Amino acid sequence: MVRFISALILVSLSFNMFAAETVMRTLKLMGSRYEISVVAANQAEGDRYIDLAVAEISRIEKSISSWDVASQTSEVNRNAGIAPVKVDPELFQLIERALQISKITDGAFDISYAAMDRIWTFDGSLQEMPEEEIIRQSVAKVGYENIVLNRAEQTVFLKLPGMKIGFGAIGKGYSADRAKALLMEKGVVAGMINASGDLNCWGQRPDGTPWLVGITNPMNKNRVFAWFPIENSAVVTSGDYEKFVLLKGKRYAHIIDPRTGYPASGLVSVSIFAPKAELADALATSVFVMGIEAGINLVNQLAGIECILVDDQGKVYYSKNIKKNEQEMEIAARQK
Ligand code: ADP
Ligand code: MG
Repeated sequence: MVRFISALILVSLSFNMFAAETVMRTLKLMGSRYEISVVAANQAEGDRYIDLAVAEISRIEKSISSWDVASQTSEVNRNAGIAPVKVDPELFQLIERALQISKITDGAFDISYAAMDRIWTFDGSLQEMPEEEIIRQSVAKVGYENIVLNRAEQTVFLKLPGMKIGFGAIGKGYSADRAKALLMEKGVVAGMINASGDLNCWGQRPDGTPWLVGITNPMNKNRVFAWFPIENSAVVTSGDYEKFVLLKGKRYAHIIDPRTGYPASGLVSVSIFAPKAELADALATSVFVMGIEAGINLVNQLAGIECILVDDQGKVYYSKNIKKNEQEMEIAARQK
């Protein structure tokens, strides 16, 4: 009898193990398409976890959105050239980290690029090249050196009137990291947060295989050109195939070189592999601005970071360790 009961328990235990499933939800957050997947015992449990992630991402959006007039970020922007604004430690620290990335990228990454966002619009309304003089005047308001942080007071001050900050190139990655950390803390064994191509994952799929990330072929966005198995890490792709503007036959990305005020061109896709999505997000944007050589050089100097770039001729470039693993990855790609 005892034997029979323990056999039953064993059966139900293994049934439970097999019952793990991936629950996925797609929704719009931060103006982008998010896909949240969690491995859970059943749909209802998975949905509860996903609700937690959604609440966390919405909370972050409330603080960093520069569209939302009620956000702390908007308050900082309204007070440009006027007064320092006290912000939450979370926002303060995000800005601190953003400034560090500006330093290591020689200003290719700069959250104060946002002073340009009235000039360069990527919603189809821009028909001709903005005038040089207008670009010159706006780019004068761009410069991370003029973002003044006071740690003791927890204040942010934008020195010049007309300055503005925006988290378009780091916020999605940050939110993916936060959502992942929260779900791990709640005991979710595996999952993936995909914020429009900025993704972070942990654990493995229910069948024990790693999550696979497809890098879209920028020349044909319905095609994936490589699949990578990823474990407990982040991959972020910045591409110009969704947001760009064509002026006199030249294609400009929605990423601005903060030093010139003109959009970056030359690359069409940058994928960064890193332990955290926030850094990967910021670096993807930076490498877009820095270009192939300087971009790969920077990535090769950073431990644990790799990249794949595609230029506007369709040529693919890799950082040094990916090159080494290329064959392995191609095998993984074939197995998909
Ligand atoms: P995506 O939105 O496609 O994921 P990115 O992560 O590269 O692409 O972010 C691009 C966004 O970042 C732009 O839409 C803009 O809001 C902002 N941005 C543009 N240029 C810069 C820059 N040089 N530094 C920081 N942020 C930028
Ligand atoms: Mg980015």
